[in-house]
Amino acid sequence: MNEVTNKYLTNVLKHNKLSHAYMFVGTNNDEIDEYVLSFVKAICCENNDNKSFYSCENCKTCKQINKNNYIDFLIFGEKESIKKQDIINLKQELSVKAVVNKKIYWLKNIDNVTKQAANSLLKILEEPEDNIIAILTTTNVMAIMDTLISRCQVINVTGSVNDDLDESISEMKVFIREFLRKYKTNKNLAAIDLLEKLKNKEDIEKFFKLMLFYLDRLRVNDNNIIKDMLIIYSEALSAKKSLEMNVAPVLILENFIFKLILRDCNLDFLEV
Ligand SMILES: [Zn+2]
Repeated sequence: MNEVTNKYLTNVLKHNKLSHAYMFVGTNNDEIDEYVLSFVKAICCENNDNKSFYSCENCKTCKQINKNNYIDFLIFGEKESIKKQDIINLKQELSVKAVVNKKIYWLKNIDNVTKQAANSLLKILEEPEDNIIAILTTTNVMAIMDTLISRCQVINVTGSVNDDLDESISEMKVFIREFLRKYKTNKNLAAIDLLEKLKNKEDIEKFFKLMLFYLDRLRVNDNNIIKDMLIIYSEALSAKKSLEMNVAPVLILENFIFKLILRDCNLDFLEV
């Protein structure tokens, strides 16, 4: 679980600031599913009087959501990839008002959507309606059209760094700052320089820990940089995973930097 995301969504619920569309991004489908259900229950639960990120699990609504048969909660893409016909069905469902309060629809594995379906979906997202909330989920953000991403509030589900940073990491800040500064003018030089400096596992772990710490705390609303942010975020997450699986640290760092350069990522938004 991502503590930063929890806090953010708690705030959203408390102040009634729900967006029309969310994209939940993570590395594990079970984790994403659980998170989405918690979120939907928190929105709909009959006993969530404080409007926090909470659900009682006992009311009729909570129970129905857990069993996937709550009338105002629609799920698509559970078994097969989402096709145009699904979006046509969705549109029809949305033309009927919510029975209780809000209508929420969940499109699973949105990276798997056909192009036709994605385009029809875009039209729906471009004309948001009150009391309708879209939830899109994915473990593969690279495969998603930029235009779809830009219509959604992106939520990182996977927890990466929950604890506060200790002192020993502040040194790494200097390296990262230096790297970002050089990256602006000459990406290749910045890469060579960083790889020269970070050679042992401990340092490379710190590097990714710090990167994820800052990325977790970013709330990007600028459509132009969301894609870059997500690329770095998912690359950093998979680097962290590889480190845990004892892949050679230098290789992981090389691979990470190489991908940023290959995709021509802009890192200007990252302030360390
Ligand atoms: Zn409840």
